[in-house]
Amino acid sequence: SEINRKRQDQRSKAAFDKAKQVIPGGVNSPVRAFRSVGLTPVYMERGEGCRVYDIDGNSYIDYVGSWGPLIMGHAHPDVIEAIKRTAEKGTSFGAPTELETAMAELVCERVPSIEVVRMVNSGTEATMSVLRLARGYTKRNKILKFEGSYHGHTDSLLIKAGSGVATLGLPDSPGVPESVASHTITVPYNDLESVKLAFEKFGEEIACIIVEPIAGNMGVVPPLPGFLQGLREVTEQYGSLLIFDEVMTGFRVHYHCAQGLYGVTPDLTCLGKIIGGGLPVGAYGGKREIMEMMAPSGPIYQAGTLSGNPLAMAAGYTTLSLLTPETYEHLEKLSVRLQRGFEANAAKHGVPVTINRVGSMVCPFFTKEHVINYDTAKHADLERFKAYFATLLDLGVSVAPSQYEGMFVSAVHDEAAIDATIAANDEALRRL
Ligand code: PMP
Repeated sequence: SEINRKRQDQRSKAAFDKAKQVIPGGVNSPVRAFRSVGLTPVYMERGEGCRVYDIDGNSYIDYVGSWGPLIMGHAHPDVIEAIKRTAEKGTSFGAPTELETAMAELVCERVPSIEVVRMVNSGTEATMSVLRLARGYTKRNKILKFEGSYHGHTDSLLIKAGSGVATLGLPDSPGVPESVASHTITVPYNDLESVKLAFEKFGEEIACIIVEPIAGNMGVVPPLPGFLQGLREVTEQYGSLLIFDEVMTGFRVHYHCAQGLYGVTPDLTCLGKIIGGGLPVGAYGGKREIMEMMAPSGPIYQAGTLSGNPLAMAAGYTTLSLLTPETYEHLEKLSVRLQRGFEANAAKHGVPVTINRVGSMVCPFFTKEHVINYDTAKHADLERFKAYFATLLDLGVSVAPSQYEGMFVSAVHDEAAIDATIAANDEALRRL
């Protein structure tokens, strides 16, 4: 059985030692190094459905899902087939293809705020470009973001950031010029009063608010009732733009994204992860009047050699096509089952745990406190998380190596996988 087997890690250890010779820290994205959990990263060989297999021959029920994109699981046959079929015809042209229009039509149809959409290659590119657009359109320099939110690693947004920045306990990153940082205002998530105060002081200078409509980079933190609506109102009042960074939540929580779930429509939206189906993609879109400010129809510049890449469009288009309103009902059922199982285990073992969840974004925090922002998320017991994480790995369950990240349930997890995960959680809490 997956439980109680002895996990091998010799090959992963050797692979990591080798990588460290030629890659900074051995990895191409910091959290992959497992530094904050004090372990050697697990080197993956392949994935299939809701499982991943490492180079030492261990298998895991996977809740990382490539950090969000794989809502249809690993190596979904339709997605792989679409990539293969497309690749046979050439991988990139630097000329428009009809696939890009089909993809844009699908995104415009599904995302309430998006009339026009531009494809880029990562979430970071999407947020970086959307900020330039917001600043160019409003002719203002300041932006407002929330503490513990992560919007990619562009200079303006790498201030009091979540995700790996929080996991590694790094203060604001060196290399971001003071002159750039001075334009970024940060306030606590879910704190509408602080937002209003910031606008009273700087309102006429603020180009935009950028917000994760469900925070997913300080663990999972849902918006309190009225929070997103309040942001909509204050931005309208001051002529600022409201930007939803739905890189993580887009197509994750609802058929019409978080904005569909909460019924609040931003001016601009960033997408990534799921819309690439596991290939490198980001996108930003919104009102036609604003988006047409981008070159070539307008003067604000942004471009990309590989933007709208055929393979990425094929994987993304196929993934979005597989998603139906029923998919989200199924995800909800599986995720509720997971949450209830975890909550019962925590009660049984007397371990203080609070589970925040929106749809298939699930986050058990090791604290009894109600987690509503980064400060309360930081009350979680990181030593407990570390021990818990290590046991889960040994028991064949893969979650993100950080308390500040959620679990992603996929549509190809099933009740048996969820129940095996609940059993592993039970054992991991017992051992704490
Ligand atoms: N925005 C959000 C909300 C994210 O979660 C992420 C990545 N986790 C990004 C932006 C950056 O995306 P990428 O890693 O593709 O650059």
